[in-house]
Amino acid sequence: MQLPRRRRRYLRYVLVGLLVVLSLFTLGLVLASDTYRYDIGEEPISFCQSIASEPLELSLIDEADISVIIGQDYLDPGVEDSDGCEHINVDVEGSVDTNTVGNYTLTYKGSTESGKTGEISRLVRVINPRGTVYLTFDDGPFVYTAELLDILAKYDVKATFFVTCGGDDDLILREYNEGHTVALHTCSHNYSYIYSSVASYFDDLYAVQDRVKNITGETVYLMRFPGGSSNMVSMNYDGGSRIMSTLVDEVEARGFTYFDWNISSGDAGGAYSADAVFENVVYALKDGGSSVVLQHDVKDFSVAAVERIINYGLSNGYTFARLDANSFTAHHGVNN
Ligand SMILES: [Zn+2]
Repeated sequence: MQLPRRRRRYLRYVLVGLLVVLSLFTLGLVLASDTYRYDIGEEPISFCQSIASEPLELSLIDEADISVIIGQDYLDPGVEDSDGCEHINVDVEGSVDTNTVGNYTLTYKGSTESGKTGEISRLVRVINPRGTVYLTFDDGPFVYTAELLDILAKYDVKATFFVTCGGDDDLILREYNEGHTVALHTCSHNYSYIYSSVASYFDDLYAVQDRVKNITGETVYLMRFPGGSSNMVSMNYDGGSRIMSTLVDEVEARGFTYFDWNISSGDAGGAYSADAVFENVVYALKDGGSSVVLQHDVKDFSVAAVERIINYGLSNGYTFARLDANSFTAHHGVNN
């Protein structure tokens, strides 16, 4: 059936009009992406009794944890209120950089004319379907760390350093200032001490936490166990107490997040050249997943492999990112 020509033209105008309105709305959201404000809800209606003493309860439209593919647009679904009684202004804090892999938090702060307020947050993950590589360096800083930082800066790659109480403060400050994650790896890294008791372990962990705080001003809760959570070396020192089973729970109870790895470069034993480190890492990269790579910036040949690893990763579509509290933790099974 054919519609009359005038009718069709009219429909076309309506459709084009709708598209223009939608595009302007989207553009408005994008332009105001850092902090923007919008309104939800109807004007207050007479029979709706808003109880001033009750808090404003916002709920998220769509999931609390949303993944977006790198380079694609993110259109925020927003929030709604629980009772729909009052007109609500919503301020959104935070923004999403869809060109950079990472985790972004948006916080919606709602308020009403009667003075009720409420807030809720959403996590938006920008991911790369080819995979994200988290380079991590343990046991430093050391004399090779400056050279490593130069290489990372050359490619604008962010990494993660699990530091001890060794090395220069200035290197930790540089790691921090250049946008890397400075995380904790115990102060002494002395197995016979840290794994002799839960109290010793935390004395040592808090000592390196204090060190980092003195240098960067930040209290860090991201950490890695010397030897990883799966280590069995602790059996030699813990008097049969199965200390790792206690520690993995206890660090989390105290607010820490611990990371293991799912790719070992072998630089702590088994690999003795930059070539071997390079091959151990790149052949193990997780296509479509997260690769948490273990290296040590106290090993010159391991640092010497980093530029080739970055070149390989970038030219094969991987994205490099630093770890944060929401990242993949690559937890091992606990053996002791
Ligand atoms: Zn270590």
